[in-house]
Amino acid sequence: CGIVGYVGHGDALEIVVEALRRMEYRGYDSAGVAILDGAGGMAVEKKAGRLENLDKELATVGREHFAGSTGMGHTRWATHGRPTDRNAHPQVSTDGKIAVVHNGIIENFAGLRDEVEAAGIEFSSDTDTETAVHLLYLEYTSGEHAGDFEASAYAVLQRLEGAFTLVFVHADHPDKIIAARRSTPLVVGVGTDAMFVASDVAAFIEHTRDAVELGQDQVVVITADTYRITDFDGNEEQGTPFHINWDL
Ligand code: GLU
Repeated sequence: CGIVGYVGHGDALEIVVEALRRMEYRGYDSAGVAILDGAGGMAVEKKAGRLENLDKELATVGREHFAGSTGMGHTRWATHGRPTDRNAHPQVSTDGKIAVVHNGIIENFAGLRDEVEAAGIEFSSDTDTETAVHLLYLEYTSGEHAGDFEASAYAVLQRLEGAFTLVFVHADHPDKIIAARRSTPLVVGVGTDAMFVASDVAAFIEHTRDAVELGQDQVVVITADTYRITDFDGNEEQGTPFHINWDL
């Protein structure tokens, strides 16, 4: 029910968990994070229940294993699959390199899941979301746009039906985050040497009050100091910039 992504120079884990806390009021049944270490590695943790459960798990594993300045977080309101640890997001590709978080519903997931399974990939959750991460993995590793993170993401997005805010990260592209929306909210937060994507300005209002709202069927690629908005085909588009001059 809440999504945040951060690319900057700060401690991504701390910033992402704090953002999830600020979106708690939206309600959720599970929470999770993925942090990129900048050297091809990615650390993922997710837990059913309160944010405190995730916090406790992070402390048990050791927060030092989540060092990095790019990351994303998710609070889930389950629609497909019970609220369990494995159904919590992020959902991760079989090579451990790609992670996806999602709010909404991918309506055509059943057909897509059959296709992914036919390619020899075993599912590890009951979510509709997991289809997206495996499709991206297949596209990125052996599709028409192999090796091209953005083009692979566009190709996957074009195949999805339903309502979704989706955020993709790839451990080999730690300088960027790709996010997209259809019929659910997505806002970019433009900071100083830091960029956010979120379902709610509450996620980043402590860091910046400059924001850009995405329109229907738009994708944004953020780096620490740039954002680029396109349609699902990769054609350049504009968002709607605004300044947050109210208090939450
Ligand atoms: N449909 C997804 C799931 O059940 C996302 C739910 C949400 O919006 O948090 O996992």
